[in-house]
This record gives sequence, structure tokens and C-alpha cells, in this order.
Amino acid sequence: MSLLLDGKALLQRVKTDLKQKTSNLARPPHVVVFLIGDNPGSHLYVKSKRRHANDVGINLSIRTHEKAPTQADLTQQIQQLNQDSTVDGIFIQLPLPAPLEALSLINTITPSKDIDSLTATNLGKLFQAPEAEDYLKPCTPQGCMQLIHQWRKNLSGLNAVVIGRSLLVGKPMAQLLLAEGCTTIQAHSKTKNLTNLCQTADIIVSATGQTGLITESYVKPGACIIDVGIASVNGRTTGDVAYTPALIDKVAAYSPVPGGVGPTTIANLLSNSLKAYHLNQ
Ligand code: NAD
Repeated sequence: MSLLLDGKALLQRVKTDLKQKTSNLARPPHVVVFLIGDNPGSHLYVKSKRRHANDVGINLSIRTHEKAPTQADLTQQIQQLNQDSTVDGIFIQLPLPAPLEALSLINTITPSKDIDSLTATNLGKLFQAPEAEDYLKPCTPQGCMQLIHQWRKNLSGLNAVVIGRSLLVGKPMAQLLLAEGCTTIQAHSKTKNLTNLCQTADIIVSATGQTGLITESYVKPGACIIDVGIASVNGRTTGDVAYTPALIDKVAAYSPVPGGVGPTTIANLLSNSLKAYHLNQ
């Protein structure tokens, strides 16, 4: 029987632990999120993040800008928050409406307050010394690793295929697997013979947003499948994996959508908020 990698249960465990830890602090950790534009998904995500933050004693304040401010204005706001010793974490809910340029704003955030771990400094540390504990690690890839470790602790020598090459998920994901000794292939929309590559993989992490891309014929018996993708089809949340009984029977472990990677991303955002509090003391 295949193992269901349960992100909701992981989130619950992390929240119980964090609630206890934040209750011993001099003040609650404080995170500021920029919510710019009227993307309904972004508004929903931020609301959900604030609810989870409140549950564990983290103060998450939202800077809402229905009408997009200028790049210069946002840069100045971030610089002020960098200097503010009562603010531990800063993040920008993506995507940003045009013509705002996300990367230059993200790189304005002080790395020790970059709880999404998207600054060049934090991504650079991930490449230089992934196992170091003095920096903030990317939330979704970390969550995927925690799910994979529910299946197997030692990943050394396993073949992994990561599908997707974004800065948010695909690239850091491949680095984390590489750091644990996996032979890692980074696939993307231009990759040829994706099916053949996936058939060699002990671990597949799919982060494309293409509903049902990974079918039973892609997977090797006994593989571990991590589904990062989120899309909406007829009002239903879907992932990259077509969860047929044949696929579920064939794999050793899989993360569902919803209830797999999504909750682990929240768990790591909350953990990073507490870590940022300590890094900034
Ligand atoms: P992105 O659009 O930046 O990247 C998508 C990647 O998929 C690209 O690198 C592209 O090359 C690749 N791709 C697209 N179609 C492909 C195909 N047919 N074959 C192979 N590769 C293909 O998106 P992202 O920010 O990396 O997010 C990826 C998905 O994960 C999205 O659905 C997003 O909503 C979801 N996501 C989920 C969480 C979570 O917490 N569950 C977090 C972040 C992103």
C-alpha cells in the first residue's frame, strides 16, 4: 500500500510547536506582507497565512495597495521596514501587477527578514552551504523535503527529477535534493522525453501547474511523487498528478492536492518567521 504524505498533519504539528515557542518570547514575531493589486488568489492566500500566523502567536500585518504604488515608493517602504527593529519578516505576495518588477523589490529586503527566501543572498547561501542554519530556507522546497523524509530519511544515491525551473520552487528544490546526495535532473517546458526521464526517477517533484501532467505511465514502481502544482478546473483544486488508482498502486508514496505541499509551505513560512525573529535579535 502506498504512503499518503500528509501536509495537513505536518502543519498541525509545526503549529503546536510554534505556539509553545512564541509564548516564551519577549514579544510576538512581527511579519509584514505586501499585498498589491486585486488578484483574488493572492488575497485568499494572504488571509489564510494571517489566520495561521494568528493561531501561533505571530503578528502578520498586511500592507494592502489596491492601486499599485510605484517601484520607488515600494522600495522606500521596504527600506524603512529593514531598519525597523520591531519587524522580523517581510514578504511580497506574488505575482505583482505590471510594471512592478518583483526581483529588484525582493532583493531590497534584508536577507535575515526575507522569510520567503528569494533574495540573491539567501538563494546564494542555498547553493554555497545548503545545510547551514544561519539563513532562511525556501518554504515550498523545504516542505517538499519534509514530505519526502516521511517516506525515506536517507536519499543518498537516489535519482530525482524536478519538473519546473522557477526561482520559487524548481531551482531551489533541485539544490536541496542534490545536497542530500540525489542525482538530480532539472526538467522544464523545453525538456524532451520527459516520460523517459521520469521513468528513471525514485523521486519526482512536479511544479508546473499543468493539471494531470504526470500519469501512471511516467512513474517507476516504488517511486515517491511530490505534487507542487496548483490549478483550478471547474472550481476544483487540481495538481500536476493524475491520481488514478493505477498510479497510487504503483508508487511507494505520494503527496495529494489539496492537503500535501500547500500546508507545508505555510508551516515553513511560520517557522521562518520565528527563525527571522531570532536572526534579527
Ligand atoms: P512557474 O510558472 O514560475 O514555473 C512553472 C514551471 O513549469 C516552468 O519552469 C516551466 O518550464 C515548467 N513547465 C510548464 N509546463 C511544463 C510541461 N508541460 N512540462 C515540463 N515543464 C513544464 O510556477 P512556480 O511558481 O514554479 O509554481 C509551479 C506550480 O506550483 C504552480 O501551479 C503554482 O501554483 C504551484 N505552487 C504551489 C505552492 C504550494 O505551496 N503548494 C507553492 C508555490 C507554487
